[in-house]
Amino acid sequence: MKLKVCGMKFPDNINAIASLQPDYLGFIFYDKSARFISTEIPNVPKAIKKVGVFVNASADTVVTTVLKNNLQAVQLHGEEAVDYCKTIKEQLPNIEIIKVFSIKDEFNFDVLEPFETVCDYFLFDTKGKLPGGNGYTFNWNILKKYPSTKPYFLSGGIGDSEIEPILEFSTSKASKYCYAIDVNSKFEIEPGLKDFERLEQFKKQLFSNLAAKQHTMSYNINEKGYYGEFGGAYIPEMLYPNVEELRQNYLKIMAEPSFKEEFDQLLKDYVGRPSPLYFAKRLSEKYNTKIYLKREDLNHTGAHKINNTIGQILMANRLGKKRIIAETGAGQHGVATATVCALMGLECIVYMGEIDIARQAPNVARMKMLGASVIPALSGSRTLKDATNEAIRDWINNPVDTHYIIGSVVGPHPYPDMVARFQSVVSQEMEWQLQEKEGRTKPDHVIACVGGGSNAAGAFYQYLDETDVNLIAVEAAGLGVDSGESAATSALGREGIIHGSKTLLMQTDDGQITEPYSISAGLDYPGVGPMHANLFATGRAEFISITDDEAMNAGMELCQLEGIIPAIESSHALAVFKNRKFEPEEVVVLSLSGRGDKDLQNYIDYFKI
Ligand SMILES: *Cc1c(COP(=O)(O)O)cnc(C)c1O
Repeated sequence: MKLKVCGMKFPDNINAIASLQPDYLGFIFYDKSARFISTEIPNVPKAIKKVGVFVNASADTVVTTVLKNNLQAVQLHGEEAVDYCKTIKEQLPNIEIIKVFSIKDEFNFDVLEPFETVCDYFLFDTKGKLPGGNGYTFNWNILKKYPSTKPYFLSGGIGDSEIEPILEFSTSKASKYCYAIDVNSKFEIEPGLKDFERLEQFKKQLFSNLAAKQHTMSYNINEKGYYGEFGGAYIPEMLYPNVEELRQNYLKIMAEPSFKEEFDQLLKDYVGRPSPLYFAKRLSEKYNTKIYLKREDLNHTGAHKINNTIGQILMANRLGKKRIIAETGAGQHGVATATVCALMGLECIVYMGEIDIARQAPNVARMKMLGASVIPALSGSRTLKDATNEAIRDWINNPVDTHYIIGSVVGPHPYPDMVARFQSVVSQEMEWQLQEKEGRTKPDHVIACVGGGSNAAGAFYQYLDETDVNLIAVEAAGLGVDSGESAATSALGREGIIHGSKTLLMQTDDGQITEPYSISAGLDYPGVGPMHANLFATGRAEFISITDDEAMNAGMELCQLEGIIPAIESSHALAVFKNRKFEPEEVVVLSLSGRGDKDLQNYIDYFKI
């Protein structure tokens, strides 16, 4: 975060404050202000940008003042219109334009939109009688709704007592685009005269604390099994021995050289890894940016899920388990589990809702051919959550010889972390593949669809703490976020507990889980994994929801532009390109989580092929 000190007036004081090396110094060219600067500005170090602050001055005045005083930025505090900003930008193309908006108790963010292209920054100040220097803060929570990606200055009444609130703010979603802190009257001895010692103290304290916070803050799991406030293991006592056995052993086992060797070998020879990182030329041309597809659709069994089931079957072997259970909704995870059980010659029992068994006949047949028993869940809505309940019941009754393979980054700790680690092979490959193709390991954006969140966790994993990589999580909006037929958990969910972990969850007012809906069976889940709940709550990832229609059309577009038929889940991620702009030189990697063979009937019905 940058620091701007505004309302400088006296030459000696300007020199003193400049020695503290703030990033910006502000000078008010508005003669009704008590901080109006009437003298010449002394020379300050080049690294400090000088900002001229104006209130409804004529464009000519602004231009001459900038040239005369050699300013690097202008801050517009009045009712300056978009055209006015345009005029200034045309005459002074190298000057940064900061447009001020004042906030009281609420703010209509729609007014920002027309200024997006003509301003470099926004500045949010407290609404008061006079422009600037009122000494009051506004409610920063309002910025949670900030709809833009333009960096902004946070201003209005910031003083010593705001250090703690700023530190807290810095870990919230609202601060994602906060570029600088702007201070003024709270550090004054008299209007325009700043208190050197107090500002020095403030700067030292704020920035050392911010750096420390940044250093210790990780978007990965902590030693207690939480991502921020999400995660943990909320399980019945009877399940404790099983989960605890896994928790105590999973990291140890994964670190064993023989485990790694066997895992890597199977990923290579059985799954077909590394999966290609394919530059999608025609898609890139259409959306005027550089798009790479991470081809998880080319894995054995047609999706990323096999990465996890291979890892977990090896884990089960090491723990001496002879019997594997799993739950499945659409059958994809059931098939991936039945596959690895056949590979290892282990007994496999898959729980599946009675309704889902009827809807997903081909996958039920696949599981049976692979030797699994498919047991219908007959209670409740007879879908995924009921199948999960049955699987948990089974595990409680068979604590010694059975391993439960969970199919996404959900469930009690250590499952979300274990599954994320198995899937992290996806971003590990992306790093060296990007190095080969682009000469750098980091993309500008990573896009992935989120059901429970395992393909996204794999694609994000290596970049979680690399905050210059933008992460984009795509949820299924179904018929529309507000339609009542949706699976957009971040938009609709509240904190709750599902499948043993504290996360975001779609629920009724009295805490009952809401039935989700999406055309894509793999995204049709009422929660998200705790990693993603935290990425949402902290603003580390952008969340976008995509409707059935948008996804189906994006899927068809990929067929016709690139000759690839994607899974409908992955089509949700592809629909982002119609919803969000990327720059031509930006590198965007999209996790193509699966192939569309399983969805053929859906595509046929939808497009009346
Ligand atoms: C299961 C599935 C998903 C959703 O699961 P995540 O755990 O969120 O990755 C996405 N795409 C495909 C192809 C799937 O089979």
